Amino acid sequence: MIKFLDLQNINSQYSNELKQAAFEVIDSGWYLLGERVKTFEKELSAFIGTNHAVACANGLDALRLIIKAYVELGVFCEGDEIIVPANTYIATILAITDNNLKPVFVEPNIDTYNIDISLIEEKITSKTKAILIVHLYGRVCWSDQLKSIAIKNNLKIIEDNAQAIGADWNGIKTGGLGDASGFSFYPGKNLGALGDSGAVTTNDAKLAEAVRTLANYGSAQKYVNEYQGVNSRMDEIQAAFLSIKLKHLNEETLIRREVAKNYCENIKNENIVLPNSSSKEIVYSESSQHVWHLFVIRCEKRDKLIAYLSSKGIQTLIHYPIPPHKQNAYKEYNHLSLPITERIHKEVLSLPISPVIKLEEINYIVETINSYNV
Ligand SMILES: *Cc1c(COP(=O)(O)O)cnc(C)c1O
Repeated sequence: MIKFLDLQNINSQYSNELKQAAFEVIDSGWYLLGERVKTFEKELSAFIGTNHAVACANGLDALRLIIKAYVELGVFCEGDEIIVPANTYIATILAITDNNLKPVFVEPNIDTYNIDISLIEEKITSKTKAILIVHLYGRVCWSDQLKSIAIKNNLKIIEDNAQAIGADWNGIKTGGLGDASGFSFYPGKNLGALGDSGAVTTNDAKLAEAVRTLANYGSAQKYVNEYQGVNSRMDEIQAAFLSIKLKHLNEETLIRREVAKNYCENIKNENIVLPNSSSKEIVYSESSQHVWHLFVIRCEKRDKLIAYLSSKGIQTLIHYPIPPHKQNAYKEYNHLSLPITERIHKEVLSLPISPVIKLEEINYIVETINSYNV
């Protein structure tokens, strides 16, 4: 059976270093907000190219904290609107609603799965304060047009960079394109901890300070509370693991690109829509835009394809089966009609992709898909 993602193999590549780091943290007697977290923050901000990185507990918190910080700084108010792609993971939306702001859903582009930038301006009202973009599946969502819409309308651009660490746009890394960015180091992400972790990057010193304070009970000085904060800290042990794995991220991204290139060049089945990628995005250069967190195809009879692949020993997943506006959690948005989003959620399927997938496995997946006919 070919697993969708083999985390054990991914981490066993570095098992000696990871075990050594775990021993050092255990023996140090210091488990939260210590030198290892500081070191990882420095490494992350250097990698992304921002002035600040603030570690926190997970990716949802990273996004929640950014919005909460903008509220505390008086940039956003409760009830304000944030423009967001409709076809994202629920965390993006939760970060907005948890702060009592309102998500305004915009359809994605069917070819890139990222927010359709040409539909943003018609959604802007006097309450709109930000555009929360998602670099979905690892593909950069950015353009000069997006930036000028934000400047013209005095909007912040927040990046959900949970799936795209290492991607870049004309030499600028995602996470450094907008005003602030949230990262997830959930174990299955391209830079995965061995547990939960997240971070915020920004060039805005005031915002970084507010996020750091909010993540620590609203306290910058012990027992003195500036805001009604939350507890969202990164463990020293996770920071130590992440420092080790960050050193290998570029190599791992290049392998993901090779896998994606192999799939794109060799899967030939008219029932299947491959990711629409210019050659530039697939692999060919290190400045490529896409980091292939997920390799997502579309198929009208998706559920039949899943059953077929599963019968041949290939595990696949759906990212994501139900869009946020159709969830019970968001009954107030269930009435919205977002046909492109709904079609994507009905038709998408993610094939196995990882830095440890073997060439024989890729070849077998390609052959199996090519021999499939409805
Ligand atoms: C994983 C993910 C998150 C949330 O990250 P957690 O660390 O699981 O909280 C947010 N947005 C997107 C797009 C994600 O893929």
